[in-house]
Amino acid sequence: MQSRRKFIKTAAISSVALSLESFIGEPAKSYAKSIPNKPLVISTWKNGIAANDAAWKILSSGGRALDAVESGVRINEANPEDQSVGYGGRPDRDGVVTLDACIMDENSNIGAVAFLENIKHPISVARAVMEKTPHVILVGKGAFDFAIENGFEYQNLLTEKSKEQWYEWLKKSDYKPKANIENHDTIGMLALDSSGNLSGACTTSGLAYKMHGRVGDSPIIGAGLFVDNEIGAASATGHGEEVIRIAGSHTVVELMRQGRSPLESCEEAVKRIVKSLNKRGKNIADYQVAFIAVNKNGEYGAFAIQKGFNYAIYSNHGNNLSDSKYLI
Ligand code: ASP
Repeated sequence: MQSRRKFIKTAAISSVALSLESFIGEPAKSYAKSIPNKPLVISTWKNGIAANDAAWKILSSGGRALDAVESGVRINEANPEDQSVGYGGRPDRDGVVTLDACIMDENSNIGAVAFLENIKHPISVARAVMEKTPHVILVGKGAFDFAIENGFEYQNLLTEKSKEQWYEWLKKSDYKPKANIENHDTIGMLALDSSGNLSGACTTSGLAYKMHGRVGDSPIIGAGLFVDNEIGAASATGHGEEVIRIAGSHTVVELMRQGRSPLESCEEAVKRIVKSLNKRGKNIADYQVAFIAVNKNGEYGAFAIQKGFNYAIYSNHGNNLSDSKYLI
């Protein structure tokens, strides 16, 4: 048991660290080193606020980061107004909603589904892949059959609203995913629980009007999500092809391993994407990619190619939306 003196000392140091955090808006590095900022959950885009609420219920009662991220992102998967995730997601160019998701825990257990149709909660199917199969990724019909066998229900995911928008798109059939609007609300969520363990989840219906069969970064461990419980975790949103090209989330975590802060690591990964776009003669203004990251101490950061990306962070100071730093 903790002695009374030690308890008072720890409580006093904690309150200094916490008030410092509220003063400068981000965890103070030197304090965070010895007193981790936990529990904590961070997720992409403003829809992350509602997802964080659900995750926080688990984290604040001492629950596991893995359970928190799964239940957090399920909120977005079920929300038809979130048109980049789960039910109500925008379809591919053939009018089919296809879902990608992955999950990773503190022991490097991983599970993913890709090109999955007619199942509302791909993240829970990904978790079932992780826990009930000898594999790490199931795709398409195989993933669907596995989901049905494991008690998930068939559901038509194409809402009237998404169908109307697709009809409208078909008039020109012009595939140009635009930065920040219309097709970048994938939710990537990272959590640090009160035991100090990290987990992450990422789920999406992918880029709107993609080719049938296209899989993005979101279900690819190392691209859309990566967790190393000794170091930190990262997740991505935006043009998945660019994230995959640099193994984005793994790159962010490796940069943190080399001693960079979460913010610096996200920035460096974004710069590598920009370098690769430049090399291929692409117009950077047409692309958006953003990373979020958290380290073992609960320091966090985010960085995007372009202005307009935001992320939600829930710590002991409440659930807040922050604008990400960006390159251009
Ligand atoms: N990264 C996702 C994909 O490429 C899209 C997104 O972030 O909304 O499928």
